[in-house]
Amino acid sequence: DPVIAAVDPEVADAIREELRRQEEHLELIASENYASPAVMRAQGSVLTNKYAEGLPGRRYYGGCEFVDVVERLAIERARQLFGAEHVNVQPHSGAQANAAVYFAALEPGDTVLGMDLAHGGHLTHGSPVNVSGAWFRFVHYGVRPDTEQIDYDQVAELARQHRPRLIVAGASAYPRVIDFVALRQIADDVGAALMVDMAHIAGLVAAGVHPSPIPHAEYVTTTTHKTLRGPRGGLIFCRGALGKAVDRAVFPGMQGGPLMHVIAAKAVALKEALSPEWRAYQRQVVANAQALADALMERGYRLVSGGTDNHLMLVDVQRSRGLTGKQAEQTLDAAGITVNKNAIPFDPHPPTVASGIRIGTPAVTTRGMGPNEMGLIATLIDEVLSHPHDEARRERVRGEVRALCRSFPVYAGRAW
Ligand code: PLP
Repeated sequence: DPVIAAVDPEVADAIREELRRQEEHLELIASENYASPAVMRAQGSVLTNKYAEGLPGRRYYGGCEFVDVVERLAIERARQLFGAEHVNVQPHSGAQANAAVYFAALEPGDTVLGMDLAHGGHLTHGSPVNVSGAWFRFVHYGVRPDTEQIDYDQVAELARQHRPRLIVAGASAYPRVIDFVALRQIADDVGAALMVDMAHIAGLVAAGVHPSPIPHAEYVTTTTHKTLRGPRGGLIFCRGALGKAVDRAVFPGMQGGPLMHVIAAKAVALKEALSPEWRAYQRQVVANAQALADALMERGYRLVSGGTDNHLMLVDVQRSRGLTGKQAEQTLDAAGITVNKNAIPFDPHPPTVASGIRIGTPAVTTRGMGPNEMGLIATLIDEVLSHPHDEARRERVRGEVRALCRSFPVYAGRAW
């Protein structure tokens, strides 16, 4: 970017290199995606200059007439897309959306039931190193050893035993459909509220390819940058009667001024999400994940839970190829294939080493790749992981990855 380069060539260089990396690498990190140029323009706009504490029509600053238009559009589109009674579009991130719900729904020391990080949950669901784990008494449920799917009997048993005020569902590394009806029933049986963090699956939910938590949960949080394909940020949906408490928990509870440029980018992304093409994209994300999972299993890879229903899969590389997740991540990275190491349920390795890798299809699907390319990607991954010490082979794969990426450009010379 010549404008940035004139002021700061070092940052401009790093941005240019990152663009090249994004174009030339196969991005298989399940939580990442490519935002559209329109989303990025909105995020890079003059709205970054504006303070707008408060809500549309009720601000603590003057001059908010145009940012009010933007925030109202974001709110209306988010409500329409997900069929929600109330939404707050101001959380700066998924972590802050979750913290705001805790602030609205809980007192310090309250008991909360959430999914174990080691079984696919998220840090903000009560990890001791996160504020959620430090300030609330989290109890954790997990998956069954035999099916590697959520153990709803265990959730019910822990709920009866610990009487949580809130049950938290949602995950960062869970390849199966989550049963929100079962969780609602368990919450009702013990008088708990239900919060669903749908950060990973929000795009699938919006397109109707994963059941929606909105009718079943008092609170639903999400990020906007994963399957939803917007700017980095968060959203909170809730029942109408809880709207005031949630709004107060976001501001002044958790945050100061909202990021109006990011809210504008959320509005643009939500408009994109209301189109038929975008729904077709989400269906393709799931079809691609299934194609990739099938192709990997055909080559003898063990997938946690035996497959996937959504946009991601967990590959047990330890048992499939005798590699740790860390080794697999590093050797794939050297071939231009980006994944992340990930603990698998009941993992004997610490999380920094891990037995698995997490693979997702949202980003490659945005590039326009389909089932044929998924077959090729499985072959390339297998080439690398079956011969981790063969550098010549890895170089050849790297070349094939580049060629594949060139055929499916992200930003360069492609209409969005
Ligand atoms: N919740 C879930 C389930 C996530 O996977 C993530 C991100 O990894 C978050 C929350 C946190 O989002 P952010 O990184 O925007 O704080």
